[in-house]
Amino acid sequence: MSAPGLPADATGLITVDLDALCANWRALAQLVAPAECGAVVKADAYGLGAAEVIPALARAGCRTFFIATPEEASAARRLVPSARLFALDGLVPGSAQNFIAADVAPVLSGLDEIADWSAHARQAGRRLPAALHVDSGLNRLGLSADDVSILASERERLEHLDVRLVMSHLACADDPDHPHNARQRAAFEQRRATLALPSASASLAASDGLMLGAPFHYDLVRPGYALYGGQAFQGGATPVNPVVTVAAGILQVRTVDAGESVGYSASWVAPRQTRVAIVAAGYADGLGRGLSASSNETGGIVMVHGQSAPIVGRVSMDLITVDVTDVVGRVQRGDLVTLIGPGLTIEAMGRAAGTIGYEVLTRLGTRFARRYVGGGA
Ligand SMILES: *Cc1c(COP(=O)(O)O)cnc(C)c1O
Repeated sequence: MSAPGLPADATGLITVDLDALCANWRALAQLVAPAECGAVVKADAYGLGAAEVIPALARAGCRTFFIATPEEASAARRLVPSARLFALDGLVPGSAQNFIAADVAPVLSGLDEIADWSAHARQAGRRLPAALHVDSGLNRLGLSADDVSILASERERLEHLDVRLVMSHLACADDPDHPHNARQRAAFEQRRATLALPSASASLAASDGLMLGAPFHYDLVRPGYALYGGQAFQGGATPVNPVVTVAAGILQVRTVDAGESVGYSASWVAPRQTRVAIVAAGYADGLGRGLSASSNETGGIVMVHGQSAPIVGRVSMDLITVDVTDVVGRVQRGDLVTLIGPGLTIEAMGRAAGTIGYEVLTRLGTRFARRYVGGGA
């Protein structure tokens, strides 16, 4: 099948607007100035394709990138030879030589990691770049308060490192009224003061944290989700626009009589004679099974000819079934259905699927064709 708008052989299409991506980065950079705006491009740039996203952001002026894993770090270095790269997973055992070769600064979260990276620095005969992640109340990665005290009194533990950044991460930044935000900020201040590394930059905020205002910006902010058009902040709209649209083709349209069921487990029964479009998109393409609709429960919504239409029955691996009875105009094989796009945000799909927009983005499968539009500058 090749529907109009789909490349030959493709059943679906993910379109990434690199101009919108870069406009988002610029809007956030402007919002946080004079602080620097970096970019978090881990997990293949949240599923959108690091190979396209990273160079586009670099052309827009982004100089500092965060990835998670050593493999992502090496790939990013090939794309941006002169940018600053920080690896959020830190010094993953076995990754030191690659980090040294690629000039990547691991984000170190423990005294053992610091000792390990320092040993490599001694061996290399020079100070190696690093960031320190101090925990401020998330209790995920990060140096504990005790670790910070030890580093403050035993300065030799850091003497082989070039600590360029001290950072922490917020737990509740999407909720501007959450008391955790101020508590974490105070803990971050206190731990930075204890560490006393005046030449290191400071960073606390990701996409939502930077919306909490200038006191959270420090020297550098680290948005990921917002760059990709995500709107997770509950206190108002982040000044970004959607970047991604996803569409898939209709394989067949059938009529189902009242009382007949549709899909696995026969969980949805037609309350009336129903026109059902069978669409070539399923959970293998990132449409969570939470979008399924039984007769008692609504599921996801898609757009057919610009009109919203509900998913009915179970989401299966390759297919969804959509009630197009009320869609005005002829719906036929080969027509395109919008899954994410105007009027269908990643947040809305996340809510309907019982998850969050972040997971929607990072799960978009590899089976759909991808098209990048805009030059990203
Ligand atoms: C993923 C991540 C970010 C980016 O978070 P967003 O909510 O996507 O902006 C920033 N900092 C750390 C430590 C992260 O793990």
